[in-house]
Amino acid sequence: MTVEKGEAIKEKGNNHFLQKKYNDAISCYNQALKQNGEKATYYVNRALCYIKLKQWDKVYQDVHHSLDLDPNYIKAHAYLGQYYIEQQQYDEAITCFKRALELCKIQNKNFGNEIQRLLHYTQKCRFSLMEQERIENDNSLQTYLHSLIQTDKERRMQLCIEKYFEDNKVNINKQIESISTSSLSTTANRLLILKQYLSKTMDYHNQQTTTNLNSTISVNPETAITPDDQMNIIVDPQLEQALFEIEHSSNQSLCELNNLFTEVDMKRKRREIPEYLTCKLCYDIMRDPVITPFGITYCRSCIEENLYKVSHLDPIANKPLVPEQLISNLVVKEIVEKFIKENEWVNAESF
Ligand SMILES: [Zn+2]
Repeated sequence: MTVEKGEAIKEKGNNHFLQKKYNDAISCYNQALKQNGEKATYYVNRALCYIKLKQWDKVYQDVHHSLDLDPNYIKAHAYLGQYYIEQQQYDEAITCFKRALELCKIQNKNFGNEIQRLLHYTQKCRFSLMEQERIENDNSLQTYLHSLIQTDKERRMQLCIEKYFEDNKVNINKQIESISTSSLSTTANRLLILKQYLSKTMDYHNQQTTTNLNSTISVNPETAITPDDQMNIIVDPQLEQALFEIEHSSNQSLCELNNLFTEVDMKRKRREIPEYLTCKLCYDIMRDPVITPFGITYCRSCIEENLYKVSHLDPIANKPLVPEQLISNLVVKEIVEKFIKENEWVNAESF
């Protein structure tokens, strides 16, 4: 008597579900659980309500309750897969859907094309995620290599200026003496002015090349060269030429690096298989395409497997179909062969 009552409450819950009154349905399943004790069906039905309400933690709890009671419950595996899709744990989701499909075969049940569709959707999501990660990795690698070239350029310029400074001490001293004599009485002051000269030279170069070269030389504001003095500082053409060469070779390296990444980018863009060459069942390129009487093309193996294991319908057209009606789609086959020839990476992919 109680069992019947519990089942009646469950039916009531199912009706609420069909009317999209998910909270009412949940309270019916709660009552049914109270009435009849633990039943995998009640948990699974309640889990579906939580899927609709996007309360994923509760979905997870309910499917696990139902799998504890019945480890071969197909719907529980499928709903757990949906939970994992939501968490972007695609490998786990794929395992769930594959297990659900296996159980369909063993228990001779079918849920139309739904589980197959979810499996392919997940495989596509996983592929996109991997692509995204690859693009992010490429981008951060490019940024890192850029910074290496930049740092190397700055180091070489610094060395070049320091060497010039060392080699031309006498000349520079003379030049500084001609700027001003009053503030150069001590060796310390003289050294500061020399440092400022070095700093000024770098600034001058930066203005010429519009690159940012961080000077490591500190300038004491008390003895800083006045704008009038700066007018008198002439950057040696020899030094300027040396700095220009460093700049030029560095720009060349940057250019080569960018070209390399653009090339990789072009290849990446070509990594998309056009939709019209993609099977609606496995989302992969159709190597042996066949067309149904309803004008839809699939891989031969995919549609045949679907007809044997899932349903005797064209999964897209939803009309009765038998394998004898499948005809090779020679036009698509020719295009696919040409595409594979031009995009050899297709053969390396498996998703
Ligand atoms: Zn296929």
